[in-house]
Amino acid sequence: MLYADIIIDISHSRLDQTFQYKVPEELERVLEPGNVVEVPFGRGDHLKKGYVLQITEHPACPPEKLKRIGRIETDLVGAESKLTALALWIRDYYGSSTVQALRTVLPFREKAAPKKKKRIVRTIPKEQALEFLEVFRKKHQSARARLLEALIEQPELPMEIVTGSLRITQAVIRPLEEAGMITCETDQIYRTPAVLEELKAQGGGTDGALPDGSGVQLNEQQKHVVDVICGSWEHPDGWLIHGVTGSGKTAVYIELIAYALERGQQAILLIPEISLTYQNVLRFYRRFGERISILHSRLSQAERYDQFERARNGEIDVMIGPRSALFTPFPNLGMIIIDEEHEDSYRSETTPRYHARETARKRAQLEGAQLVLGSATPSMEAYYGAKNGWYHLLELPSRATGGALPQVTTVDLRQELKEGNRSILSRALYGKMRQRLEKKQQILLFLNRRGYSGFVSCRACGHVLKCPHCDVSLSLHRGGRMVCHYCGYTQEAVKTCPKCGSPFIGGFKAGTQQIEEIVKKAFPQARTLRMDADTTRGKDGHAEILRAFGNREADILIGTQMIVKGHDFPNVTLVGILAADLSLHVSDYRAAEKTFQLLVQAAGRAGRGKEPGEVVIQTYDPEHYAIVCAADQAYEPFYEQEMAYRRLSLYPPAGSMMAVHVSGADEEHLAVAAGYLAKFIRQVSGRCEAAVIGPADEPIAKINDVYRKAIYVKHENTKKLIAVKNIVEQYIEMNEGFREIRVQFEMN
Ligand code: ADP
Ligand code: ZN
Ligand code: ZN
Repeated sequence: MLYADIIIDISHSRLDQTFQYKVPEELERVLEPGNVVEVPFGRGDHLKKGYVLQITEHPACPPEKLKRIGRIETDLVGAESKLTALALWIRDYYGSSTVQALRTVLPFREKAAPKKKKRIVRTIPKEQALEFLEVFRKKHQSARARLLEALIEQPELPMEIVTGSLRITQAVIRPLEEAGMITCETDQIYRTPAVLEELKAQGGGTDGALPDGSGVQLNEQQKHVVDVICGSWEHPDGWLIHGVTGSGKTAVYIELIAYALERGQQAILLIPEISLTYQNVLRFYRRFGERISILHSRLSQAERYDQFERARNGEIDVMIGPRSALFTPFPNLGMIIIDEEHEDSYRSETTPRYHARETARKRAQLEGAQLVLGSATPSMEAYYGAKNGWYHLLELPSRATGGALPQVTTVDLRQELKEGNRSILSRALYGKMRQRLEKKQQILLFLNRRGYSGFVSCRACGHVLKCPHCDVSLSLHRGGRMVCHYCGYTQEAVKTCPKCGSPFIGGFKAGTQQIEEIVKKAFPQARTLRMDADTTRGKDGHAEILRAFGNREADILIGTQMIVKGHDFPNVTLVGILAADLSLHVSDYRAAEKTFQLLVQAAGRAGRGKEPGEVVIQTYDPEHYAIVCAADQAYEPFYEQEMAYRRLSLYPPAGSMMAVHVSGADEEHLAVAAGYLAKFIRQVSGRCEAAVIGPADEPIAKINDVYRKAIYVKHENTKKLIAVKNIVEQYIEMNEGFREIRVQFEMN
């Protein structure tokens, strides 16, 4: 007799118990871990859905007390066991309950009733049908004649037409069906995401102005990348494509996917949600047609379910989408590609806080699939991985169109102030904008407000107030205090610069709206568009602004990081970065990396067409290596300097860091609990020599009346941190004091 440990799908996420059931004889050979089954549960033996975690020969209690599994949901066998294994890995690595992990990986478990569509099919040959038609006409059976006549022209008809315009009732259909002349068939209709519908409606787009991607001949460097990866198909591995902006990574992805498809396999392409534009998807649609599908965060649960269903049934071979597309249940996955792998959106914000890059690596291993990462500005993790042999590095060092990378000018804003210019537009930027407007070329103005958290800096000397313990900037809070979000250090806000004595010290205030006003005043004849959280609120606000700017309906596009990501505007020849260091002083150890990435990506928007591009970087900190390296478009030197800093402070990827996020509605209770937790973590960590920092308030200390704190644990070795996490999880589970407190773990 076999016994199965089963987790019952109940919404109570804290209750993560398994229940043991007897495996009926007829299922003994087929049941596998990861199967979804129906089991009787509770007093009333209500049928519930459960996941098989483990199968064993040893009952946990006297077998006669155990109930039997009802049946396997047979339409859910296959890829699921690998996905369930992936879920268990996510649970152990990132910390969550099994239920939470399963839900993340198997989102299709909430079965939505699929839309059904019926049609009538003629089953006899045309000649025979013509004979019957004669008979019906003679007998004056006009309804039968009408139906058959229509079916002679077209061998099958949708039911709507039969019952609609043909006015045929069931009373007519049934006798013909019984006579074997027709059959009535039902298809499952999958809900199609709107963007696919749109593509189909436009016949894949006939607009020749859009980049095709399928028509281009790969250049030598692109071909090399494709050949190397395809050449190693028998030994799947991890690859990092470091390709400068405009090097033609998309064309490479298309060839790689085509190769996987030729081999009868399927592919997943992850792209940041913000790059899921009509223009981008079109390139794939033109090559692969309806073999692709698309996921995005606005899809309903049912729509998402349908797309996964189609993948499982072999109706599609390519899934494109943001991080959750990683869990597409393809039967024979050959490749996972992650475009712009450095993007923050690949990390989940909810438990389990998985990262798509690491999780993709695990899935690729489980499936024996290739993993391809691509970026112009690889994350420290990916490049470190390439240096350590986890990925093979492949370079695309020049632009596919043959154009040069843009020329960059750095402007020192301290000098501007000294020379009497207090405007946010430096004289150099103003002059270049004027030239471009005269030539009818387009301009992007980028305000780098990523994660901007109100740091305090001096406009005269550029000095930024930092935590004396953590080497991250202090945030200015309303009460006039400055706070460190790692260790909790606070001090009074200063009135003059402690370095140069200038009174021009404080937080940076200008937003995109003020900048638009300033630009309108400076260039009254120019047409401006603004893209930020306010102007993109509507459903298609974001796409609409990009479309308008792409059609040259405006001369200047002003915006936050949304405007710099992956867009291809050939007529943009000038990019102005208004205050490059704003993101440099975010209280986050990744601040320099993120700044470098944003600057390089922003600069990469200039000069993608025939005309050469130019970039102006305005900054209070022109000597900072992130800014110097970005101005030189020099990745490797940046990586080396940043790595030196990470090694010194044991920040990832040099070391591992685990954040323990604690939150609760009662401020005092939270403070006490967080204090206890930190103390406990210090005790546990002491044994493996991990460093514990905090507790401190999170950057946003209170959301919806819930107070939030964090504790950070650092160690060279991720495994040690996972061990600490496991002990802490048990401690929380056992400790009454944490009933009202939510604890979440975040790895690296
Ligand atoms: P990336 O994603 O690397 O920034 P894209 O894939 O968007 O670059 O390509 C940039 C531009 O170069 C696009 O307009 C694309 O059509 C074009 N392109 C790509 N490959 C080639 C090629 N082999 N020959 C000519 N143009 C190409
Ligand atoms: Zn100063
Ligand atoms: Zn600190």
